[in-house]
Amino acid sequence: METDGQKIALVTGANKGIGREVARQLAARGFRVVLGARRPEAGKKAAADLAGASAVEFLELDVADAASVARAAQELAKRIDHLDVLVNNAGILADGDASIQDLDPGVVRRTLETNTLGPLRVTQAMLPLLRRAPGGARVVNVSSGAGALHDMTGWAPAYSVSKTALNAVTRQFADALRAQHIAVNSACPGWVRTDMGGAGATRSVAEGADTIVWLAAEAPPSLTGKFVRDRKTIEW
Ligand code: NAP
Repeated sequence: METDGQKIALVTGANKGIGREVARQLAARGFRVVLGARRPEAGKKAAADLAGASAVEFLELDVADAASVARAAQELAKRIDHLDVLVNNAGILADGDASIQDLDPGVVRRTLETNTLGPLRVTQAMLPLLRRAPGGARVVNVSSGAGALHDMTGWAPAYSVSKTALNAVTRQFADALRAQHIAVNSACPGWVRTDMGGAGATRSVAEGADTIVWLAAEAPPSLTGKFVRDRKTIEW
């Protein structure tokens, strides 16, 4: 696979939904894309489907499993010498109909494990490769308006708490990595027609992926530590 001068991106949870579309759009822009997925069969199939005209390769990666993340980082370090873009997209919504009044704390723990600690551990594991990106690197954490404190409702408490905490993870990394030329932002894709968003959602996956891809490939590198929707900074 050609790598000289080609930018390289890793997208987690990219076998379907928004992640798959982000992988597709980045590949269409000339990126070499590493498509992360926890289920090898689904990941290999998605990578093969997208790889028709572009450079897309599968990497087994379960963001909720520290051993899997460590193995993935080791494997990736054998394939590439730097990483320009990391999109922490993998996420679960396990409590859409729940109320905080009787929410099982186990659901909160499981949701945090994937939606918050997942991006934290994947970003940490990829830092050595991100630091070697020749023109600086970008990390995009796929968050949600559900995690915005300024207008939070009672919907999906575990999911919402996990995305609020993810936004804090974004701010922490943005500050810690600013001097290392690694921009870190949270993106809200809007309400998107995927298995998670449902058929009644207002946006296509292409629309949902737009801001994520913009942050990954086009936004000013000085933009860091922000929460972004429709290519504009929004309130936390
Ligand atoms: P989706 O269609 O359900 O896809 C979620 C993806 O994440 C799948 O590929 C899934 O893999 C993967 N995943 C889940 N847990 C994982 C783990 N532990 N390790 C690796 N991959 C894992 O959802 P989506 O709508 O595309 O959501 C993508 C992101 O956008 C999520 O972070 C979500 O919170 C966010 N978001 C979505 C919406 C919306 O309206 N859809 C709105 C706001 C934010 P499997 O196929 O193996 O389950």
